Amino acid sequence: MTPPRILAAVAWPKACGCGARYSREEWEALRTLGVQRDRDGNPEIELRNCAACGSTLAVVVEG
Ligand SMILES: [Zn+2]
Repeated sequence: MTPPRILAAVAWPKACGCGARYSREEWEALRTLGVQRDRDGNPEIELRNCAACGSTLAVVVEG
């Protein structure tokens, strides 16, 4: 299985390759695709769809 292209970021706003930018609040409003977890089951990377182009975006979940 081929993993989706991931653009990880920890800084806000989150920018998509299409030019869309999302503040943290705007990011929370995007459709959630899932969360990748580490071996302990803690959320590590959150995946959402860009509302403008539909690309899969990812941010590292902060503690
Ligand atoms: Zn986009």
